[in-house]
Amino acid sequence: MRTFKAGLRVWIGFLSIAVVSAGAAEDGRRTSQAMARAVDSEADAATKLLERIVGINSGTFNRTGVHEVGKVLEAEFSALGFRTRWVSMDALGRAPHLVAEHEGGRGKRVLLIGHMDTVFEPSSPFRQFVRHGDMATGPGVVDDKGGVVVMLSALKALKAAGALDGARITAFITADEEHPGSPVETARAEFIDAGKHADATLCFEAGMRVGGQDYVSTARRGASSWTVSVKAHSGHSGAIFTKEIGDGSIFELSRILNRFHDELREPDMTFSVGLALGGLSTHIDPAGAASADGKDNIVPSDAQALGDIRALRPEQLTRIKERMQAIVASSLPGTQSEIAFEDGYPPMAPTAGNTALLERYSEASEALGLGRVQALDPMRRGAGDSAFVAPYVDTISGLGAAGDGIHTAAEKVDLKSLPIQAKRAAQLIYNLTRGT
Ligand SMILES: [Zn+2]
Repeated sequence: MRTFKAGLRVWIGFLSIAVVSAGAAEDGRRTSQAMARAVDSEADAATKLLERIVGINSGTFNRTGVHEVGKVLEAEFSALGFRTRWVSMDALGRAPHLVAEHEGGRGKRVLLIGHMDTVFEPSSPFRQFVRHGDMATGPGVVDDKGGVVVMLSALKALKAAGALDGARITAFITADEEHPGSPVETARAEFIDAGKHADATLCFEAGMRVGGQDYVSTARRGASSWTVSVKAHSGHSGAIFTKEIGDGSIFELSRILNRFHDELREPDMTFSVGLALGGLSTHIDPAGAASADGKDNIVPSDAQALGDIRALRPEQLTRIKERMQAIVASSLPGTQSEIAFEDGYPPMAPTAGNTALLERYSEASEALGLGRVQALDPMRRGAGDSAFVAPYVDTISGLGAAGDGIHTAAEKVDLKSLPIQAKRAAQLIYNLTRGT
């Protein structure tokens, strides 16, 4: 009898768990449907918001314009119950970052990132949002104003479905993604800190759709630059290759670049030479204009070249730098060379955590009937802000609007992609902040 009673209690326990989880599943389904409806009914307003912020020039160096875009976004976040603040970048010559925080105590802490600056300064003739049916062109329409609008649409959907209460969400909208302030450690200090306090980071840079398949990045190559400087003995060209004169700066630079070309290539990494010059004197200004002078009958004493490295893993970047250094050090007679490196964006290395986060995103997409989402080949996306937080928190990038022509006057967005991406993001944020 005791056994029977105990067994009965266990059964009742099972039944009540089953009833509760069936109820929770039903709640979840209702919330998903409410969020999807909210995204659809908000779609026209989202396009209008996009048009409005694209119409405000926010080239990275137009600090007033970037700040203006930020103020529009600040009002949107405030209306959703987020507490907003600005992170001053005055000392670095940049507009302030916008941070919006939603406090709660439930589920995972989610960091949403995007940026409000563009590569189009006020001098650019590319200014307006112009709609052509389901497409629209304009500066930053995908990179990254479309992404920020997707982020806001997702949050509005969560709010409309009553799913924002208790969720711990920080939105960090940077002001200088296209040209980070220097030193970058200062420009990204609070940003990195936000990553350290999150359990998952969702980056709303451009979505990627290739052949009807949607992709998200779980890994991205970083971007570092290098400069080789050569000094050499000069003299009459007839005395080249002698003990006194040596080989001259240009043969030395050629040797270095040839060895880079022949010896450095490996998978998941590229390096390039962007500019090379040599002569009696050379000059390169920071904007890339360069000049040199020399004569056919004088051994050249000066040479410079600059380029980049894009590596997928920090240890890969270190190894490439060491190999470049070794090549540069074995100078030809009568010459001396140096190489200097400057790191821009760190690599965002592939991790199991990032892959698992993508899997959750893909599951959310499939549950909405929007298909699977796959990991993008890291060779197909450039460096970005997500790499700064990725060492500390599971991160995926590419949850923003889809389009193409980024960084050109042909930049265009597929307006139909906005609600699709917003639904996926809302569902993932819901799942994460529910703790399921
Ligand atoms: Zn960009």
